[in-house]
Amino acid sequence: MKTIKTQVAIIGAGPSGLLLGQLLAKQGITNIIVERVTGDYVLGRIRAGILEQGFVDLVREAGVAERMDASGDVHDGFEISANGQRYHIDLKGLTGGKTVVCYGQVEITQDLMDAREAAGLPIYYEASEVQPHNVKSDTPSITFEHAGEQYELQCDYIAGCDGFHGVSRQTIPEELRTEHERVYPFGWLGLLSDTPPCNSELIYCKHERGFALASMRSETRSRYYLQVPLTDNVEDWSDDKFWDELKLRLPTDVAENIITGPSIEKSITPHDLSCVSRCSMVVCSWSVMLLILYRQPVLKGLTLRHLMWQLSIRS
Ligand SMILES: Cc1cc2nc3c(=O)[nH]c(=O)nc-3n(C[C@H](O)[C@H](O)[C@H](O)COP(=O)(O)OP(=O)(O)OC[C@H]3O[C@@H](n4cnc5c(N)ncnc54)[C@H](O)[C@@H]3O)c2cc1C
Repeated sequence: MKTIKTQVAIIGAGPSGLLLGQLLAKQGITNIIVERVTGDYVLGRIRAGILEQGFVDLVREAGVAERMDASGDVHDGFEISANGQRYHIDLKGLTGGKTVVCYGQVEITQDLMDAREAAGLPIYYEASEVQPHNVKSDTPSITFEHAGEQYELQCDYIAGCDGFHGVSRQTIPEELRTEHERVYPFGWLGLLSDTPPCNSELIYCKHERGFALASMRSETRSRYYLQVPLTDNVEDWSDDKFWDELKLRLPTDVAENIITGPSIEKSITPHDLSCVSRCSMVVCSWSVMLLILYRQPVLKGLTLRHLMWQLSIRS
C-alpha cells in the first residue's frame, strides 16, 4: 500500500471538490482529490448554467474567473410569469448589487481542472473503493484503489464533495448526523438545444399545467425545463411534444416567437432537497457543496469550518 500525507483529502472532483482544492491551495494548504470516474466523464455531465453571486465570488477568490468574466453573461434580473402575466424582478436593485452569471457548469469545471493541472495539484481519477477511516479521530485517512495499486491518504481533514450518493454522507456516524430531506413529487424534464434563447433573462413560469423555466447557456444555446410527473420517462417526450407543452406554459407573446430545434440533451431530474448537519458539519446536496468536517481547528490562519460554511451558504 502506498501511503501519502496531505492536509486535506477531498473526495469528488465535481465543481465543489475542484473549487475547494483551489481555495485551499491558495491558502497554502496541501490537498489531494480522489474521484471515482474519469475527467471526461465529469466534464460530460450537463447540469448548471446559472451561477449565483456567492459561487461566482468564490470562483473569483480562487483566481479561476478569467474565462467566466470574459464570456459569461451577467443577468441583473429575471422574470416571473404567473397566469400569463409577466413580472420583472430587479435582482441587482433589490439585493444591493447582486447578479447571476450565465456560464455552463461544463465550462467552469474545465476552468477549475485546467487551473489544478497548471498548478500541479494532485488528483486521482478513476479511483475505486474510496473509503474514509477514523473520521472521529485526529488522524483520519482515506483508502482507495487506483491503477491496480492500493493507496492510503493520511490527512488532517476529509472533505466529502462527492454528492448525495457518495460515500461521505454514509460515513458520518449516525449519532452525529441530523438529516433533513424534502422529496418533491415531480421532476424537471430539461432540454438543451442550439437555438437562441426566447428572452434575454430567465423566465420562471407558474402555470396550471405545471412549472416551466426558460433558461439559457449562451446567445445561441437554450435550456428549457418542464415540471413532469416522476413516473414519466425521457422516451415519453419527443422534441415536438416538449416544445408544444412548453409553448402552452410560457407567456403567449414569448411562445409565439420562440425558436425551436432538435434537442442536443434531454433528461429528467428528480427534485429533492437534503441537508445533513451537526454543529461543525454541514453536508448538503443540490447546488451546495458537500463537505464534511470532523474537527475544527485553524489551518494556517484559515478556519476550514468557516470556509465550509461560507462555501455551503454562499453557493
Ligand atoms: C439538470 C440540472 C441543472 C442544474 N442547474 C443548476 C444551475 O443552473 N445553477 C446551479 O447553481 N446549480 C444547478 N444544478 C446543480 C449543480 O449541478 C450541482 O449543485 C453541482 O453539480 C454540485 O456539484 P458537486 O461538486 O457538489 O457535486 P457533483 O457535481 O455531483 O460531483 C460529485 C463528484 O463526486 C464523485 N463521487 C461520487 N462518489 C464518489 C466516491 N465514492 N469516490 C470518489 N468520488 C465520488 C462523482 O463522480 C462526482 O464527480 C443543476 C443540476 C442539474 C442536475
